[in-house]
Amino acid sequence: MFISEKLKNNDVTVSFEIFPPKKEISMDSVFGITKELTQLKPEFISVTYGAGGGTSKNTVKIASHIQNELNTTALAHLTCVSSTEKEIDDIITQLKENKIENVLALRGDIPKDSDFPRDNHFNYAYQLINKLKACGDFCIGAACYPEGHIECQNKEIDIKFLKQKVDCGVDFLTTQMFFDNNVLYSFLYRALANGIDVPVVAGIMPVTNAKQIARSCQLSGTTLPPKFKTIVGKFGNNPEAMKQAGIAYAIDQIVDLIANGVKGIHIYTMNRPEIAREIMRNISDLI
Ligand code: FAD
Repeated sequence: MFISEKLKNNDVTVSFEIFPPKKEISMDSVFGITKELTQLKPEFISVTYGAGGGTSKNTVKIASHIQNELNTTALAHLTCVSSTEKEIDDIITQLKENKIENVLALRGDIPKDSDFPRDNHFNYAYQLINKLKACGDFCIGAACYPEGHIECQNKEIDIKFLKQKVDCGVDFLTTQMFFDNNVLYSFLYRALANGIDVPVVAGIMPVTNAKQIARSCQLSGTTLPPKFKTIVGKFGNNPEAMKQAGIAYAIDQIVDLIANGVKGIHIYTMNRPEIAREIMRNISDLI
């Protein structure tokens, strides 16, 4: 089923993100993770493409397992900036063969190696969206950045490019992680003011590792609000306490989002079903 159809109704939807394992040998463990996650009855599970240290070649395989073996809607991420058109064509063929109809179309991060850029590559996500539109009947999601994308000079320009991307045929957007809900509310207002009216799913990162989050916030330009910094300062050196505080912070964010009318919640599970389970246990009567 198209994710856009699920997002159209008035219910709150909760979905999860996982990443492929680094090595082929741990595929079994990721299948175990997907099984545990589907037991929590998410609306869909997304599988990243190369992000989070995993390998991109397993994305379709895992998404297919979720879709076809576990009967849960899968969203396959696909990045384009490091790929040739032929490589993208091959993935699109695999998606069709595996009956995966939901794709999160991304540019990906620009590789640092010296022989980049190379010929025949895509520069922006909107070009991949045009390609997907031309190749089949996909429900297409794309990324958005409540604080603006790190490479963009300012939020006004960023949102104009987002509008251009959406106009190419995006059915829904998923946000980058954010830790201050007011940042999201202000983004939603600006998006609407710029004519972006597709559903926006809020990406929530339960922070359980202080060092890891400092690094990813630095790379993505995500701000850590003072309240969150205080928590990390107090519990960052105690893994169990940090995990509990990180989950509580994520639950607090989700409760506030739902109370303020946000309907799509996407949890970055970091392949840890116990975190997703704990969050679901705490919001079960809200959804
Ligand atoms: P784009 O929408 O192409 O934007 C990239 C930059 O270019 C922005 O600064 C934008 O303002 C600018 N821009 C856009 N269009 C134009 C234009 N026409 N002219 C000039 N500038 C333009 N990465 C992975 O590798 N694998 C994943 O699975 C993955 N999943 C993600 C999931 C989510 C929900 C999010 C938010 C990010 C994810 N990423 C993933 C990270 C993403 O690939 C990076 O953030 C990347 O740098 C930008 O990708 P994009 O699709 O947003 O790019």
